[in-house]
Amino acid sequence: MEVQAKTFPGGVRVSHSKDRTEHLEIRKAIDPRTVVIPLHQHTGAPCDPLVKKGDRVLVGQKIGDSKSFVSAPIHASVSGAVTAVEPRPHPALLRSVMSVVIESDGAFEVDPSVKPKGDLDSLSPEEIKQAIREAGIVGLGGAAFPTSVKVSPPKEKPIDAFLLNGAECEPYLTADHRLMLEEPDLIVFGVRALMKAIGVEKGIICIEDNKPDAIDAMSRAVADYPNLSVAAVRAKYPQGGEKQLIRAVLGREVPPPPGLPMDVGVVVNNVGTAAAVATAIRTGMPLVERVLTVTGSLVKEPANLRMRLGTSFNDLLDQCGGLTGEPVKIVAGGPMMGIAQYTTDVPAIKGTSGILVLSERDTVLEDATNCIRCGRCVRACPMFLQPLYIRMYAEASRWDLVSRYSPANCIECGSCAYECPARLPLVQWIKISKAELAAKKGGR
Ligand code: SF4
Ligand code: SF4
Repeated sequence: MEVQAKTFPGGVRVSHSKDRTEHLEIRKAIDPRTVVIPLHQHTGAPCDPLVKKGDRVLVGQKIGDSKSFVSAPIHASVSGAVTAVEPRPHPALLRSVMSVVIESDGAFEVDPSVKPKGDLDSLSPEEIKQAIREAGIVGLGGAAFPTSVKVSPPKEKPIDAFLLNGAECEPYLTADHRLMLEEPDLIVFGVRALMKAIGVEKGIICIEDNKPDAIDAMSRAVADYPNLSVAAVRAKYPQGGEKQLIRAVLGREVPPPPGLPMDVGVVVNNVGTAAAVATAIRTGMPLVERVLTVTGSLVKEPANLRMRLGTSFNDLLDQCGGLTGEPVKIVAGGPMMGIAQYTTDVPAIKGTSGILVLSERDTVLEDATNCIRCGRCVRACPMFLQPLYIRMYAEASRWDLVSRYSPANCIECGSCAYECPARLPLVQWIKISKAELAAKKGGR
């Protein structure tokens, strides 16, 4: 198939570092003895617990829910006894969050409510949205935005294009790549379900051109669906950012915040999300497991693992042979947008796309020097910002000047800091600027 790689302005060429896991088949992780399942694993309102200490729960049973529109219920990933409902460390929020602790009985008895939802052709868009909501599905690319909300745009925002995000532009991570190779038909089923829920005719599966085998696998899987196609996008970071993908593939510009893809008639979902939607419809099983990549130069046997949500980082690292040296950084996700952890005693959750263990050699530990006004951060920025001025004025607490450089438009991709020869912590200053300006707007 002849495909031309599309792209967006800005961005950076990063070392992909995917060679340790991209050829490894997804394997099932060892079932955990205990899971810790936070009641807040998504953008939006946290869930309230539906169980208490001493209760017996079954796989797929709902254990937390919220009445808020922007939220997603939480389900048990093992059967067994609830031993605690208490705050526990969280890998994304970096604080303790109310969690349900379940000691597995090893039986993995499935909740009787878990039943196939029926034939996709006979399900209405509303029934599909309801199934997605009830299954607790969120964006599995890392943002963890509730999928039921994404597929329910208001009537005044008509959608004419659906993009499946298979870019996986973060270095090291290979879970989406493997899913596309190993479960292309499941993904296509999920895409069709998502498109039916939204009411959109045209769907494009977007894959970086450094994954030609995935482009081939997905092209074969869509061959019988004339409304679906595959687009090769150039391997460049952050090609998997929603706005960058839309710009590359459709040539549309998403307006600055609070602008959203639906403002330009587009919904974007991730590969893992589509697979989860397909599973929820075909089997009725809610989101109780996901595929993640455990990798980094210090991991003895890197792997792509299908693991039950709530399994601890420690358990996952152990079954990858443990570590071969002292790590300087352990990250939930990839090196560009992932979140550095202060403990490995945290659970892998819906939004955990990987566990990355970095050694001193992998990490830049040089001290920052002065800005030399080289402009590399400006050229790298896919949002056309000027990070050097944001940092300079933020450091001087000149928030009036900072606001002129629109830090709110920053997608925190880290491209500017990656390129900066002075090693300035540009993203940290942008985050501080966002928080300061938001607080001032709120009347602090
Ligand atoms: S300013 Fe923000 S959007 Fe631009 S490169 Fe830096 S982190 Fe990315
Ligand atoms: S890349 Fe770094 S040194 Fe160059 S202009 Fe930007 S902040 Fe300054």
